Amino acid sequence: TPILLWFRRDLRLGDHAALSAACESGRAVIPVFILDEETEGLGAAPKWRLGKGLEVFGKALAEKGSRLVLRRGAAQAVLDALIEETGAGAVWWSRLYDPASVARDTGVKAALKERGIDARSFGGHLLFEPWTVETGQGGFYKVFTPFWKSVRGRDPGAPRPAPGKIAAPGKWPASDKLEDWDLGAAMDRGGAVVARFERVGEAAALERLESFIEEGVNGYRERRDRPGVDGTSGLSGFLSLGEISPHRVWAAGSRAAEEGKRGADTFLKELGWREFAYHLMHHTPRILTDNWREEWDAFPWDNDERHKEIRDWKQGRTGVPFVDAGLREMYVTGRMHNRARMVVASYLTKHLLTDWRVGMRWFEDCLTDWDPASNALGWQWVAGSGPDAAPYFRIFNPETQLEKFDKKGLYTRAWIAEGQDDPPETALAYFEAVPRSWGLSPDDAYPDPLIGLKEGRERALRAYEGRAER
Ligand code: FAD
Repeated sequence: TPILLWFRRDLRLGDHAALSAACESGRAVIPVFILDEETEGLGAAPKWRLGKGLEVFGKALAEKGSRLVLRRGAAQAVLDALIEETGAGAVWWSRLYDPASVARDTGVKAALKERGIDARSFGGHLLFEPWTVETGQGGFYKVFTPFWKSVRGRDPGAPRPAPGKIAAPGKWPASDKLEDWDLGAAMDRGGAVVARFERVGEAAALERLESFIEEGVNGYRERRDRPGVDGTSGLSGFLSLGEISPHRVWAAGSRAAEEGKRGADTFLKELGWREFAYHLMHHTPRILTDNWREEWDAFPWDNDERHKEIRDWKQGRTGVPFVDAGLREMYVTGRMHNRARMVVASYLTKHLLTDWRVGMRWFEDCLTDWDPASNALGWQWVAGSGPDAAPYFRIFNPETQLEKFDKKGLYTRAWIAEGQDDPPETALAYFEAVPRSWGLSPDDAYPDPLIGLKEGRERALRAYEGRAER
């Protein structure tokens, strides 16, 4: 009987444990993607990005003599219907770790097993299953450095090659049309603009990895913190949708380290942060929604999104160039440099005293590399409410940061058109991308700062001390 291969965040053919096992079984394979409630609820940019990914992945499957069957509805009901239609005896998938997916998948697995269906989940989204990493006392890690020490020397295993051919069933079940799903519908920031900057799919991911290992990794340690240069791997979007496996990236990074390429160890460590984020999400799922340190519940965060300050922050119009450059970069490309993510998050949670969840949700709507675990950990880390977080009183000064990491103003010139005689395409693209309702033009004057940097810092520290007294 055929195997239903339920694809989710694993849109690749290479190094795919479930797909390899299915192909090795010699049985027909029916690849399926289900637009269920959870997928429907994605933010605008990640949903748009998913649509692009599915388009490319469908073509890649077709080249192997297969297809991607698209269905909409609750996962259980869709799988039940497909089992009826195709006579499939097995449903296999790659594991996910966020609480909503875990709840859904656990329910689906139990129900399928009850019907005598071979329901199986495989690893692949992570290097190390979160429950296999334990402290000496048998608990989970709350601090990155010891976590990293405990996994750094492990061998996550070599990546598997893509199967040569995928056996097709005698008859294909019907599929929805991807266009009809209109996954870009909420992308009012101009999908066409973002598309100019975004490459998708497994082949693009492999190319990017190769060129980064050839040319980028050597200078990674020095260049990774400079938002104005292309000094990082740019792999996060591909990793988020599983268009490349972390094992493949790890293997390439490890080889570079063995060859003595400088920067390779630092690069591997960043992959370690991704693992750490998942480790924390597995052990404390409330990291996605609640202050990880409960003493922060008493902090007077502003979370009224109608406030002008929050709106201006979202629009990249705070009057602080580093902050605005980061937010505009994200709006236009679906991505933001890591240094800028830290600076904009610090400015929102400290200078503007705004709840980190407001920022986290905006990122969730705007990032094409959106990842539930890394986003939540990043925000809680900057806000000071998270595990292994920077202390609250360590407030980034966006001007000093600029001086240190963008001395020549490459980043701010790339993203802020106002005040430039001949602004570059990137800076102008922002005005193309924003909805008309924002009423913005590149001829406007650059906004005045919402609050003085010193004043904002002092206000934040006062609020922090007030919290400490409570
Ligand atoms: P590289 O520097 O080339 O790093 C290689 C890979 O390591 C990345 O692709 C990513 O998978 C991983 N990585 C690097 N830094 C981190 C980190 N700090 N935490 C976890 N993993 C990391 N990353 C996301 O993938 N999705 C998000 O939604 C996300 N939200 C963030 C929100 C905030 C407030 C902050 C401070 C960071 C966030 N990050 C997020 C982490 C980081 O900014 C991005 O992973 C990175 O900028 C991606 O660019 P790159 O692939 O070129 O990274």
